[in-house]
Amino acid sequence: MINGRIGRAAELLSSAHAGIALTGAGVSAESGIPTFRGEGGLWSQYDPVKVASIGNFLNDPTAYWSVARERGPAVLSARPNPGHAALAALEEAGHLVAVITQNTDGLHQDAGTQRVIELHGSGRTVQCLDCGAREKRAEVQSRLATEMPPLCRMCGGIFLKPTVVLFGEAMPIPAMQEAFALARAADVMLVVGSSLVVYPAAQIPLAAVEAGAALVVINAEATPLDRHAEVLIRGRSGEVLPELAALMSPA
Ligand code: NAD
Ligand code: ZN
Repeated sequence: MINGRIGRAAELLSSAHAGIALTGAGVSAESGIPTFRGEGGLWSQYDPVKVASIGNFLNDPTAYWSVARERGPAVLSARPNPGHAALAALEEAGHLVAVITQNTDGLHQDAGTQRVIELHGSGRTVQCLDCGAREKRAEVQSRLATEMPPLCRMCGGIFLKPTVVLFGEAMPIPAMQEAFALARAADVMLVVGSSLVVYPAAQIPLAAVEAGAALVVINAEATPLDRHAEVLIRGRSGEVLPELAALMSPA
């Protein structure tokens, strides 16, 4: 049955001219980065609004960085998994025009995807909210053992913030506009590893469906958009995507 569904998804993508993918934390789970929701998700350990909101970051950067210090090594040392690689291969072969992601880990770029739209920014850099100086997240990580919160190397400021969208912050408008334009033009919309409960990101596949795209959902568990899916594949993206890519004929 699952092969039949993957085959159907491959058929849809083979004839697509403007296929796009939207990915969430699930696509990086097999790279060792915990998801927020779902089994083993981070939010069974932390209260997201306490840790990952801009209000709490400004109120207590040390609390934010204490969690970041623990979580950092797994994220910073993560490598792309076969799911990321398959998405890059689908783009290379002309079956996908872009990957829109809610992830901040940079693994789609590492896997070779050329057009990545980061809806929630990038966790690879940090920026000082006082003077605007940027620094690599990995460099900040290396001094967290002795410096808490980490201080800006340029001005000594205490608000070094990863360039990600925290709760309570606005989404980057250019990325949102690009994502919705791609969705409206898409003929196939692949959603992978997203719980689809974070808006407005979850609105993107809906916009694609409204504009006539066929929706393919690949996720470990049910999502609120499953009823709109033409093909629904319940499974791990690191297994399903390579199988899908292997079934594709060249565009
Ligand atoms: P989420 O954590 O809300 O949901 C992840 C979904 O992926 C769940 O439905 C889960 O069942 C599914 N899943 C888990 N493992 C999977 C696998 N191997 N294959 C397929 N599906 C799998 O993630 P989200 O929807 O992206 O939501 C929200 C926020 O989490 C985003 O804002 C994102 O910025 C942030 N986030 C990013 C990372 C990252 O950059 N890697 C990690 C955690 C959270
Ligand atoms: Zn500074």
